Amino acid sequence: MKIQLLGTAAAEGYPAIFCKCEACIRARQLGGKDIRTRTSAIIDDELKIDFPPDSFHHVLTYNLDLGRIQHLLCTHSHHDHFYPEDLTMRAPVFAHDIDYPLYIYGNDVVIYKCNQVIQFSKEAFKLRRIAPFITYTIGSFQVTPLLADHDKNETCFIFYIEKGNKSMLYGHDTGWFPPQTWSWLEYKKLDFVLLDCTHGLIPEKRNHLNIEGVKEIKAIFNAKGIIDETSKVVATHFSHNTKLSHAELKSLLNPFGIEVAYDGMVVNV
Ligand SMILES: [Zn+2]
Ligand SMILES: [Zn+2]
Ligand SMILES: [Zn+2]
Repeated sequence: MKIQLLGTAAAEGYPAIFCKCEACIRARQLGGKDIRTRTSAIIDDELKIDFPPDSFHHVLTYNLDLGRIQHLLCTHSHHDHFYPEDLTMRAPVFAHDIDYPLYIYGNDVVIYKCNQVIQFSKEAFKLRRIAPFITYTIGSFQVTPLLADHDKNETCFIFYIEKGNKSMLYGHDTGWFPPQTWSWLEYKKLDFVLLDCTHGLIPEKRNHLNIEGVKEIKAIFNAKGIIDETSKVVATHFSHNTKLSHAELKSLLNPFGIEVAYDGMVVNV
């Protein structure tokens, strides 16, 4: 599997869109891997995960052929992951020569928000409501939504994704996994793990994870044999409130075998 990370910031972006804090000023000065946009990923150029408000920027930056994508998998409806107004740009008169629908998979809120904006372009979209702990065939992937610890107002998902003999966990947005998710992951194997690290060194592991939480989850996965020394573990979704630069995040995470995500990072497993 080829996992391309298009954005690696929390909701506000890093530097945050309006912010004048020291961390954001430093990020603007450093540039490069310290510039983080809102999160999304593409797996094997086929399966898009989330549709943030920075999607147009991602198309330009990574020269993406987004019209090719037929499957959009949504973790939850927060605006940094799901900006449905721009989805309408996939239908005429805003887009031409796409004669197949985009399948959108998500929870009740995602489907509801989609329905609010796509009523005049229904043939361009097929909406599929998904439920936790059921495995779905999506394109060439087997996808199982697992429960996240995130927003109590909707059923937020993280995803277990399999293709051939490879498997990965798309692990954000989430805090410490709910017990049902831990049980489901028991005896599974993961070649790639992407984990929420929104809080950095802030001592908080609910709703989003922090560095300590990511390290603890990696240690549990190791102890249970869910990952081994060939598996890759990457932390992502960083908030400016961490006040940590990319280099500082690396110095805190790399010694524990955890890589630090950056916009445009490609991981092959
Ligand atoms: Zn988020
Ligand atoms: Zn800031
Ligand atoms: Zn969220």
